[in-house]
Amino acid sequence: MRETKRSRVIKLGEQEIGGDNFTVIAGPCTIENYEDLKLIALRLKQMGINLFRGGAFKMRTSPHSFQGMGRKGLDVIKRVSEETGMLSVSEIVSPEDVEMMKDHVDILQVGTRNMHNYPLLRKLGKLINPIILKRGMSSTYEEWLLSAEHIRMGGNENIILCERGIRTFDYTHTRNSLDISAIPVMKQLADYPILIDPSHSGGRRELVKPLSWAAAAAGADGLLLESHFSPDDTVCDSQQTIDLEELQQIMDKLPILAELWNKKLAEKI
Ligand code: PEP
Ligand code: MN
Repeated sequence: MRETKRSRVIKLGEQEIGGDNFTVIAGPCTIENYEDLKLIALRLKQMGINLFRGGAFKMRTSPHSFQGMGRKGLDVIKRVSEETGMLSVSEIVSPEDVEMMKDHVDILQVGTRNMHNYPLLRKLGKLINPIILKRGMSSTYEEWLLSAEHIRMGGNENIILCERGIRTFDYTHTRNSLDISAIPVMKQLADYPILIDPSHSGGRRELVKPLSWAAAAAGADGLLLESHFSPDDTVCDSQQTIDLEELQQIMDKLPILAELWNKKLAEKI
């Protein structure tokens, strides 16, 4: 029988991801301006969340949807990170952006639509920044691990997996289906930390809390979720973005659930 392994620990400044740590990364789907991102980041910090997310380059299914602030958004992320002392997470969509993004963002995220973008993965393999590798929405575990291998072969072993829901036969009540089995399975097959994204999995606000708690109870190394002080006013993924009160409710119970796997949430910074 294959054993469920403890994941490797990825260290970034004072923060550690994997091992005995349960890491929460939260923030808006996309950055809209400096003021809002700063406000959200400070509220997250008060809750003990030390990493914030926010997209500058968006991979939208529709070309008519908002595509993100682009380069200006990167300047905003960097400024908020410097002013709050929090670590930043943002999605990289193109190999051409690697040089620019590596100095603006702490952790680079590869989205579901880019898991098979091997030229991008190869370039990320040359960096030292940790990479969050989301699972392709129709990808097998083996394909996901082979994508991680594309990064690792370049020399970058700071890889964090993220299950964000897969395509199944029913999408009437959920945007995707959260594959909770991905947690124990990937822990058997590899030693990368694995995060769960309950926002893109469920695609609805009401599902974020149960999916988050389920992830912690199943042994995930953390969560990557979408949160904003006023979800209805956001330009991207508002239907799945939770407000900060809901996020606080989720946070309140995470220590108990993470404790099932002898994991701890980070200290406040
Ligand atoms: C996101 O995290 O904002 C995102 C676009 O996620 P995914 O690639 O999982 O759809
Ligand atoms: Mn989103």
